[in-house]
Amino acid sequence: MVTRFRGITVREGLVFEGAAGWSEFSPFLDYDLIESAPWLVAAIDSAEHEWPTPLRNVIPVNCTVPAVGPEAAAQVVRASHGCRTAKIKVADPGQSLADDIARVEAVRDALGPGGKIRIDVNGLWSVDEAIAAIAVLDRMAGGLEYVEQPCRSVEELAAVRRKVNVPIAADESIRRAADPMRVVELDAADIAVLKVQPLGGVHACLRIAEQIGIPVVVSSALETSIGLAAGLALAAALPELPYACGLATTSLLTADVVAHSLVPVDGALPVGRTVIDPGRLAAVAADDETTARWTARFDKIRKDLKL
Ligand SMILES: [Mg+2]
Repeated sequence: MVTRFRGITVREGLVFEGAAGWSEFSPFLDYDLIESAPWLVAAIDSAEHEWPTPLRNVIPVNCTVPAVGPEAAAQVVRASHGCRTAKIKVADPGQSLADDIARVEAVRDALGPGGKIRIDVNGLWSVDEAIAAIAVLDRMAGGLEYVEQPCRSVEELAAVRRKVNVPIAADESIRRAADPMRVVELDAADIAVLKVQPLGGVHACLRIAEQIGIPVVVSSALETSIGLAAGLALAAALPELPYACGLATTSLLTADVVAHSLVPVDGALPVGRTVIDPGRLAAVAADDETTARWTARFDKIRKDLKL
């Protein structure tokens, strides 16, 4: 990783090739076999089955600003290859609202007029903290596009949504929930963030998008370009795509495993299959022990699920 993100500095994963193409299986290391299972279902789906027919060839994407200082935050926007939307991580443990305000202001200035700002809280605020912080950050941003997962529970999201005018997006409440539909049952969100691997694949996500009936933003799970291509396939197949997607995340990694990394051009990424570059893959190959651990994880889930 270029910067510590989601508490990690090294991203591990497994790539493999099936009948339909290359695929990525990269559940986070703190996920157990149960939570990792949909990631494998997704990876095998992408490896073995064609993706749905794309309705568009390029996908507008946002840049992602980690919980860094204002100068580094502005630099992320300047280096974002034309992204007009920035997603800013806020409420990082150990930081204050003042840190978040400074980061939002720096990003707003770097984006300039017409730029859009959304924030991601990863469920770290209480309802009262969310209501107060959203009011301040909305003002500093010159209007927030939306707030992603301001609180942990679906009930809290619904409570915040009733008190603020900024749209609420649900991420963890969908991807780590026993029942993703509770978000719509409780009117808890205006937008659904869908991630291909945690939700069981491109085809499974298309079905969820259909059932959930609110606009979808496709985001990455910090994948290489192999995994990101599956997210782009989902975004390309959605009937409506009103928001930029969170798929410009190769910039968070120090290396990639394909020849032409999925780096945005004019703030958008191309749709289509990507293939491994053997040299680049070799350059980031894991040691024998790590490889054995990943292979065991892959085989165990595959056997348990009879995939
Ligand atoms: Mg999120």
